[in-house]
Amino acid sequence: MTTPKETADVVLIGGGIMSATLGALLNDLQPEWDIRVYEKLDYVARESSHAWNNAGTGHAALCELNYSPQDANGDVDISKAVTINEQFHQSRQFWSFLVKEGIITDPTSFINTVPHMSYARGDKGRDYLRKRYETMSRNPLFADMEYSDDPAQHAEWLPLMFEKRGPGQVNGVSRFSQGTDVDFGALTRQLLGHVEGNGVQIRTAHTVQDLDRSADGWNVKVRDDRSNETTEVNAKFVFIGAGGGALHLLQKSGIAEGRGYGGFPVSGLFLSTSDPELVDRHYAKVYGQAATGAPPMSVPHLDTRVIDDKRYLLFGPYAGFSPKFLKGGSILDLPFSVRGNNLPVMLNVAKDNFDLVTYLMGQLAESKKGRFKLLEEFTPEVDPEKWNLTVAGQRVQIMKRDPQKGGVLGFGTEVVSSADGSLAALLGASPGASTVTSIMLGLLERCFPQQYAGWEPRLKDMVPSLGRKLHEDETLLKEISEYTAGTLQIG
Ligand SMILES: Cc1cc2nc3c(=O)[nH]c(=O)nc-3n(C[C@H](O)[C@H](O)[C@H](O)COP(=O)(O)OP(=O)(O)OC[C@H]3O[C@@H](n4cnc5c(N)ncnc54)[C@H](O)[C@@H]3O)c2cc1C
Repeated sequence: MTTPKETADVVLIGGGIMSATLGALLNDLQPEWDIRVYEKLDYVARESSHAWNNAGTGHAALCELNYSPQDANGDVDISKAVTINEQFHQSRQFWSFLVKEGIITDPTSFINTVPHMSYARGDKGRDYLRKRYETMSRNPLFADMEYSDDPAQHAEWLPLMFEKRGPGQVNGVSRFSQGTDVDFGALTRQLLGHVEGNGVQIRTAHTVQDLDRSADGWNVKVRDDRSNETTEVNAKFVFIGAGGGALHLLQKSGIAEGRGYGGFPVSGLFLSTSDPELVDRHYAKVYGQAATGAPPMSVPHLDTRVIDDKRYLLFGPYAGFSPKFLKGGSILDLPFSVRGNNLPVMLNVAKDNFDLVTYLMGQLAESKKGRFKLLEEFTPEVDPEKWNLTVAGQRVQIMKRDPQKGGVLGFGTEVVSSADGSLAALLGASPGASTVTSIMLGLLERCFPQQYAGWEPRLKDMVPSLGRKLHEDETLLKEISEYTAGTLQIG
C-alpha cells in the first residue's frame, strides 16, 4: 500500500506552549497558510507545559538568584537578569494583545499576581541578597524591589515561613510584589483552541516519526496512533516543538547545525498541598539558594500556585536523574540519542560536571524524611500528612560543542535552525515558557527573512516595545508596564 501524501505550508511538532505560540503568531501573520500541529499524546499541553509539570513561575529574574551571580570581588552581575526581565515583558505584551483581541477572555485563567521573593540564610547569604537588592534596585526594571533583614518584617510578608521561628536566625529576604504565577497549560489550550477555530489542523494521538528533506521543504512522516496509519506531509517549514522529544527529531532531520548536540535529562518532584491553613498563610513564590553542585533550575522554592481558580502551595523541585526525555518517554531515550558527533561532547560534560551528577544521584536516593528536612529550611511548620508528592515534567538540558572545553552543559533554551530557515528546533528548558514570545520572535526573524520586514508592523501591534529595550527608556517602561498590568489584571 502506498503512503498517503499531503502538503502544508507549516508543520508544528508538539502541542505545548512553544508550538501554540508560534502557531498563533503565524496564523495571525499569514491567515491563508495551511498550518498543522501534530501531538503524540491524546491531549495538547500534557507534557512540560501542563500546570502540574512545571512550577508556573513567570520568570522575570525577580526572585531566581541564579540569574544574578556574585563574582569573586563581591559584585553582583545582573546582565542575565536584565535580559530575562526584558523577555518576560515581551511575553506580557503578547498575552495582553491576546486579551485585547478577545482571543483570551479571562486573563486570570492563566496569569495571576503572586509576589516574587528571594530568601538567603546566614551572614553570607544575607549579605549577598542585600548587595543584589542594592544593585538591582538601581535598574529601572527592578526599581520596585524591596529588601529586609528584619524578622518582624519577614513574618509579616511570609507568615508560614517566619511566624513560628525561634530567635537567633540570620536571614535576608527581598520582595517584588508584582510577580506572577502562570498556568502555561491553560494558555496553550486557549491558543490552540483559537487557531483551530481559524482553520489550523490540530491532530492529537499523531506521532511524528521521521523527517526528510524534499525538493521544497520537508517530508514529515506522521503516524496516526489510533489507526496505525502513516501519512507523509510535505511542508515548506517545520518547527520541532516536541519538548524533550526535540533532540531525537532534530537528529533525524540530519541538518548540519544539529550535529554535536546532546541531551542531559533531569527529572523533578514537587511537594504540593491545598490545605487551607497552609495556603492562606503563604502568598508568594520564594526562591532560595542552590546547594553545592545543584543545577540552577533545582533551586528550592516555596510557591503559591493558582490553577483553575484554586490556590495551592508547591515546594521543590527535588531533581533526579532519569534517562527519559519525556515524562512518558522510554529509558532508552538517552542511549538512543548518542551519536558519533555528540559522544565526545557528552563525555566532556560528564567529566566536568561530576558535582552535578553526584548531586542528582543524591537527590534520587533522597528519602521522604530528607525531602521534608529541606522543606523545614523554609518553614518550621512541616506536617508530612499535609503534603503530596507530585512528579513534574522532564527537563532535557543542552549539551553542546565548546571550542575550549570540547563540550558544555547549557541551562538555557536554544533554537537550532537549518541554514535555509526551513526547519527549526527548540532545545533546552529554562527559563523556557516564560520567554516563549522572545524565542518565537527571534525564530520568525531568522527563519522567515523574506517575510519578516513586512510582518514587523503587525508584530508591533502584538509587542509594542519590539526592537527597543525597556530598561533604556523609563517612559516606555512605565507605559508598557501599566498597559500590560491593566490588561492582564496583574496590577
Ligand atoms: C520541573 C519543571 C519546572 C519548570 N518550571 C518552569 C517555570 O516555573 N516557568 C517557566 O517559564 N518554565 C518552566 N519550565 C519549563 C517549561 O515547562 C518549558 O519551557 C515549556 O513547557 C516547554 O514547552 P514545549 O512546548 O517546548 O514542550 P512541551 O510542553 O513538553 O510540549 C512538547 C510536546 O511535544 C509532544 N511530542 C514529543 N515528541 C513528539 C513526536 N515525535 N510527535 C508528536 N508530538 C511529540 C509531547 O507529547 C509534548 O506534548 C519548567 C519545566 C520543568 C520540567
